[in-house]
Amino acid sequence: MGRTVSYDESPEKAYIVSNNGLCTLFFSSNKNKGLKSMCKPFIRNHQYNVIRKQADQLKKALNTVSDRKVLESVRDTVQSKLHEAFPEATELQIATLEKLAAIPSADEIPSCVDSLEPYRTAFGEVTEAQLKKLFPKNKKLKVPALASIDYRDVTYLGWTDIATNKLYIVYHLDGRLVGIEGRYTPTNKKGVCFLCHRHEEIALFTAIAKSKPAHASPDYYKAIGNYVCVNSEACNKNITDVTVLEKFIQAVIG
Ligand SMILES: [Zn+2]
Repeated sequence: MGRTVSYDESPEKAYIVSNNGLCTLFFSSNKNKGLKSMCKPFIRNHQYNVIRKQADQLKKALNTVSDRKVLESVRDTVQSKLHEAFPEATELQIATLEKLAAIPSADEIPSCVDSLEPYRTAFGEVTEAQLKKLFPKNKKLKVPALASIDYRDVTYLGWTDIATNKLYIVYHLDGRLVGIEGRYTPTNKKGVCFLCHRHEEIALFTAIAKSKPAHASPDYYKAIGNYVCVNSEACNKNITDVTVLEKFIQAVIG
């Protein structure tokens, strides 16, 4: 015996459909026409990159591997990588993601990845005034073209000022907007970026750590240097983990 309860929640309607003890809550939105599971956006840019990467792996396997056991193990890997990337996901969120690992054919992968689009969150938008406040010593701060940014594709906001050889990175760290700056030295060659771990054209980024050890002399300073992608847009498309980025920012801001 099925039971349906519905109530108005303008402009959207919610339906609880209960069948044999199983209960599913759906939202029927005028905007999205049709039923959509009640998952709020929860996929951050770097997590979306994990999804895309795993979707590619699975697609490759489905197109080339016929051994069932091998395919099963690829699916297991996809599933565990998704779990790893979403340590705080709720059961509903996990169920939403696991659709990908279970997909029967490679043809269905693009539409499955597309179906996750509504669950993507965006980097909190920033204004020019906010950026200037983050770098008060830079009176002539050059800011990126903010209006053209799709904030869903942003894990960190990175831009360079070639005139002063500086690289700026802005990030939401524990709910606080923080910015770091450092010297930017192009290497004119490819290497491994410390943030996305991909082999790309890199530059050396050297920032001064604000924290000082106890009893340090007044002229003590510690510079932290890392090789980072020259193209931060590409880096944001590749980054799958924010641990290193957060550690680095923490070390610089002290
Ligand atoms: Zn990178």
